[in-house]
This record gives sequence, C-alpha cells and structure tokens, in this order.
Amino acid sequence: MPLVPLLPLFHRFNREHFSGSLVQGSQPLLAVRWSDGRLRKTAGFYRRGPLLAAAGGQGSEIVLSRPLLEPLPQSATESTLCHEMIHAWIDLVLHVREGHGPHFHARMAAINAAQNEFQLSVRHQFPVPITPPRWWAVCPCCGRRSPCRRRMKKAACRQCCDRHHGGSWHASCVLVYEPASLED
Ligand SMILES: [Zn+2]
Ligand SMILES: [Zn+2]
Repeated sequence: MPLVPLLPLFHRFNREHFSGSLVQGSQPLLAVRWSDGRLRKTAGFYRRGPLLAAAGGQGSEIVLSRPLLEPLPQSATESTLCHEMIHAWIDLVLHVREGHGPHFHARMAAINAAQNEFQLSVRHQFPVPITPPRWWAVCPCCGRRSPCRRRMKKAACRQCCDRHHGGSWHASCVLVYEPASLED
C-alpha cells in the first residue's frame, strides 16, 4: 500500500469519531505526519512538548511509522492514526493525563462498535520486522514500490502483468531494485 495522505483521514475520523473536537475553525489542534525511515520500534505515537511549540508547530503531533505501515494494508494506517487520535483527544480536549486508561478504553470501544473498516486495540499489533527490508522493488511500469529482503532475478510486477499482458510475464514489468539504505 503506497503512503496515503494523512490529513484527509484525520479530518474524516475527527468528524466521525470525535465530534469535530480536534479541529478549531479549519485548523487541526495538532500536526499529523509520516515519519522518516527510522521509526521502526512503533507504528505511531502522539506527543506534546514545549519544543514542538517553540519550533512554530501546534505544540503536539501524531507521527506514523512510514517503514512499518507502508507494506501493510491501509486499515493498519487507519487504526494506528485513530488510536493516536484518541491519545490526542484525551490530552487536548479532555485535558486528562491518561495512557490506556478508562477514557481510552471507552472511546476505543465506541469507535470499534461504530464502524468495521478497522479494529482498534490497545497495542499496535503489527509485525515489526526484525531486520529491515534491504531493497525496494520498483515497477518501471506502474511505479509501485514494495520493500523486500532479497532481489529476485527477472521478477515482474504482478499487477502490471495481469493488467497489460494477460497475466503473462513481460520484460517491461521486470522489477528494478534500489537499496533501502538510500531511503532509510
Ligand atoms: Zn496508545
Ligand atoms: Zn507495475
């Protein structure tokens, strides 16, 4: 799954699950962004701090892990963002100091009951790769990038072979590899 822009998702969840309370006027109360390639220990986090405010930011932010979430389905990004939005809501709207306490659990249960696109949990239950991907496999045809551990000779993009070549291997869809270290 390529990276999706987070702000539209943020605004939708804010309307659907937080009664619009995380936006003032049209301005989100916090920043929401993808990490660089180094955030590998957790799928995402919320934080507030004087340093963030001093830097001209909103004073708090949600950061989602690009390397952990990029290879997963979009529901993983959605559940991680929504989980962190509960933390932001408890802090910025309720003004309560709480980790995964009663407010968190109540809101999580309400959101899980209200939709079935994704399921929230207290811990982000995504596979954390023990060793990071070493390569990006890039399709020259559609541009799709996927992380991989090994280079496979002449492997072709399945989607493009299906779409343009009736499911047969075709030289124009042979993946090219970029070392992941250039990005991460
Ligand atoms: Zn949490
Ligand atoms: Zn392709």
